[in-house]
Amino acid sequence: MPDRPPVFDDREDAVLTDAVAALVESERALAELEAARVVQFAAAIRVALERSRNRPRAVQEREMALRSIAAEIGVALRWNDRTVQRRLGEALQLVDDFPATLRALAEARISARHVAVIRDLGVELEDRAARASFESRVVERAATDTVAGTRAFARAVLEELHPLSISERFAHAEQQRRVWIDDDVDGMARLGVLDGAAKIRAMYDRLTRQARAIRALPRPESMDDPDAVEDRRAIDQVRADLLCDLVLTGQPAIDATTDTLPGGLGAIRAHVSVVVPALTAAGASDRGASIDGQSPIDADTARRLLAGAPAWERVVTHPVTGAVLAVDRYRPSPAIQRFVRARDVHCRFPGCRQPPRRCDLDHNHDHARGGPTAADNLSCLCTRHHTLKTETPWTARQRPDGSIQWTSPLGRSVTDRPERSVAFAPEPDPPPF
Ligand SMILES: [Zn+2]
Repeated sequence: MPDRPPVFDDREDAVLTDAVAALVESERALAELEAARVVQFAAAIRVALERSRNRPRAVQEREMALRSIAAEIGVALRWNDRTVQRRLGEALQLVDDFPATLRALAEARISARHVAVIRDLGVELEDRAARASFESRVVERAATDTVAGTRAFARAVLEELHPLSISERFAHAEQQRRVWIDDDVDGMARLGVLDGAAKIRAMYDRLTRQARAIRALPRPESMDDPDAVEDRRAIDQVRADLLCDLVLTGQPAIDATTDTLPGGLGAIRAHVSVVVPALTAAGASDRGASIDGQSPIDADTARRLLAGAPAWERVVTHPVTGAVLAVDRYRPSPAIQRFVRARDVHCRFPGCRQPPRRCDLDHNHDHARGGPTAADNLSCLCTRHHTLKTETPWTARQRPDGSIQWTSPLGRSVTDRPERSVAFAPEPDPPPF
């Protein structure tokens, strides 16, 4: 006997009906607001384009005007300015190249996520008529389908309308090949690589075959050596270990530097900054070690790095104040540079996380105008924000506690404080270890 269907309470039904109606209304309002935001982003980027029109250094001036405006909006919204700059470009694209999509968003027929699908795939079509045809078909579909369903449909339409063959598109797509890292939790990180599918699959195949060969080795109990240790690694772990080995110690097969660089490319060693609290270095604590001051790593790894490997840059910090006690003695550079890099931890533009090794040391008060080369007048700035400060009206002023007051061209003021909010004074005495 099947159970009788449950009887729902009428009041619960009423609550649910109201919630669904309110959610539909929220979705409609969000779509309208998003369309309004796109229009404002586009208005802002048009100012940047207008300011650099007909200038001899148009490309660079346009980029600087754009960065300055992106930073202005970023500080106002508490957004990363790179994110703002991307949104500015996308907004202009929507207004200029996808008018029907923007209209559908403003009329709340589709959502911002549908819009992203249409724009991301539609930009592949350079021909205006082809793009308009793509747009009208996909917008119509998006009005009645989920985001995933719309994406699948849009891919099929794109394939049909695309003027280029897959070979021609691959030649273009291959230009986007790159390698990047993402931090993970628990002291881990990911390395990503984007390249042609054949090459990536070949790399994976080679790692797999090498890993299988290692796992096929005879087990130690069948060997005579009493010191042999059984390799208990899973195949995933062996593949990862092999890849690390190849990248950290390998020599590229094609090396154009063999005549100019002693040892060629194979002689170049990895370089990262490890920040280790003194108690952790001494083995009395397991806390607080990090790479570049932002990716936590485990204490054993940190101590192993401290113990040897001259290519690692070492920064030992005070356990309580976080002040810098010692820096590497292997790669001598002016003490003040190392001090500023250790204090700043990352680029000092508000919201930017570029690590010090990717930063310039900037004189907050311009050196040419009498600014001293001292820790209280120097700070880490990545290339993007260094040029923002030197090429646009943005200004930066450092206070004695190391905080930096930024002032935007429109007069908005924002303060960036150093990562460790202690007074930074270099230790006069040598470190106790
Ligand atoms: Zn920066």
